[in-house]
Amino acid sequence: MIDTHCHLTYPGIAERVGDVVADARAAGVDRMVSIGTGPADSVAAIQVARRFPGVVFATAGIHPLHAGEVGDVAAATAELRLLSVAEEVVALGEMGLDAHHDRPPMAVQRAAFAAQLTLAEETALPVVIHSREAIPETIEMIRATGLPADRFLFHCFSGTVRDLDAILAFGAGIGFTGIVTFPGAAAVAEASDRVPLDRLFLETDSPYLTPAPHRKVRINEPKYVPRVAALLAGRRGLAVEALAAACDRNASRFYGLPEPA
Ligand SMILES: [Zn+2]
Repeated sequence: MIDTHCHLTYPGIAERVGDVVADARAAGVDRMVSIGTGPADSVAAIQVARRFPGVVFATAGIHPLHAGEVGDVAAATAELRLLSVAEEVVALGEMGLDAHHDRPPMAVQRAAFAAQLTLAEETALPVVIHSREAIPETIEMIRATGLPADRFLFHCFSGTVRDLDAILAFGAGIGFTGIVTFPGAAAVAEASDRVPLDRLFLETDSPYLTPAPHRKVRINEPKYVPRVAALLAGRRGLAVEALAAACDRNASRFYGLPEPA
């Protein structure tokens, strides 16, 4: 299985990343994508990827909630452009809009997102999208680029039925985390049923969102991807292997990943 979205550079994981990667592989998670949330964090993600060639891959991006920390957006985006040519970098992002929090202001988030979408137009890389309570606005900005929808992955779906319909109509991929195992998130798990198998992605978003029953007990890690797979497969009446194989195909195609090391 592939963890399509984790943060191996974050506290709780970074200090013991060797163990985290080994435990993930022992659990059948043979590849993972460590997502950059700013220029410095993207450099860190690339360094982790270099430590685990063919197992860990990196992305380069500015998370909307960190858009206020990067200083000059043009300079930060230029830095991402340089990073994007690294062999380990398989996508841009995570980038997008987050209206759940009121900081940084939406104008700042939009400026960082727009600059990164322009970078996406200049490269051939796929794009990881973070969009929370802002799905229509996010899709509108992506549509304005004219780039094909299948170059975009909306990670960590946690929205409404209308949000899901909007992403399905647009045509992008949709990622699900351990949220689907939370007792209070039945609507998100139900939403997952409606995503066509060829557009479904598995992720942990670790160190956040530890799946049940480990929630609040321990920090999330890529080794918990199989829990997300098992829950989604069970809902669909599929064998977990079948669902995982389909999601792996999607992730390999989207990120252009090589075969497992
Ligand atoms: Zn993330």
